[in-house]
Amino acid sequence: MESISIRTNMEKYNSLNASTRKILCVGLCCLDIISEVKEFPHEDTDQRCLDQRWQRGGNAANNSTVLGLLGAKPYYLGTIADSHEKSYLQTLGTYALYLLNEEEIILSGANYYPAGCALKSVELSSPLLIDCSKSVDRMIKGRFEPLLLRTDSIGYYYGRNVANVSEMMKYVNRHNEEQVKLEEITVRVSVEIEKAKPELECLIPLADVVFVAKDYAQYKGYTDMKDTIENIRKNAKKGAVIICPWGEKGASAKEENESLVSSPAFPPEKVVDTLGAGDTFNGATIFALNKGHNLKDAITFGCRVAGAKVGQRGWGTLK
Ligand code: ADP
Repeated sequence: MESISIRTNMEKYNSLNASTRKILCVGLCCLDIISEVKEFPHEDTDQRCLDQRWQRGGNAANNSTVLGLLGAKPYYLGTIADSHEKSYLQTLGTYALYLLNEEEIILSGANYYPAGCALKSVELSSPLLIDCSKSVDRMIKGRFEPLLLRTDSIGYYYGRNVANVSEMMKYVNRHNEEQVKLEEITVRVSVEIEKAKPELECLIPLADVVFVAKDYAQYKGYTDMKDTIENIRKNAKKGAVIICPWGEKGASAKEENESLVSSPAFPPEKVVDTLGAGDTFNGATIFALNKGHNLKDAITFGCRVAGAKVGQRGWGTLK
């Protein structure tokens, strides 16, 4: 099956009964420095790189980018260091400006600089990532609370700094309990459980929508998407949706007491850049869920958009 462009998807989905709820993405924004090399380097050798580029990265920032491209109104909350790279991150393109110039939702001026390095060999389909973040653990709770109360959003949290993320998710859940009493609208909380880290487990019961990446699933010894979803369910919140993308195999998902739904992947003619495929899938799936689509349609949309993304470098030309 073929992937289709983000614009085509956007038009299709925007024509359907749209929800205008805002989406808040909480997590990392960093600079990815991507060096493309002919072969994977061996110790004590040197080689010219074929290409090098800078790209705004980080899970939450990538999610915001994808949501912005799809026509949603995403908000990004995270930390950006007050360094000269900050101006690059803020002037990457119109969507970046739109997302990042909102003073009140950016925490900046911190004394640390998050950065990621990706080494992409033409021999390997997936890049090697070297995370050079020094510290991204000082999300200021006082800034988060008023923001949440101003947005009737789906919150998307990337499980990196577990203590802070857990505190924020619990805050949203308490807020929701009050909203239910007042018969007011609640905020849906989603989280990505991505890296092979045992401490991420405590975030699972706090989310309404749990994205489980294959890295985490494999680290836990789960054999496939179905096995992953069944195991994650044991620890999930009542009524939670569990979603599991799995590279070229596409994605599966399940609502409690419903059957498993799946989507194939939509490979492009040539796979060019898989960096951020998972973030693209998550962003596009949230976009579709936020518009009220059923789970199967939402993950199929996620796979289509992710398929279009892996067919090109970065996200710029997806517009
Ligand atoms: P991550 O970036 O976290 O490793 P995955 O590899 O699981 O994420 O990919 C996420 C989604 O991106 C998949 O569900 C699939 O839809 C799409 N995708 C990833 N790799 C490919 C590929 N080679 N061809 C087509 N789609 C892909």
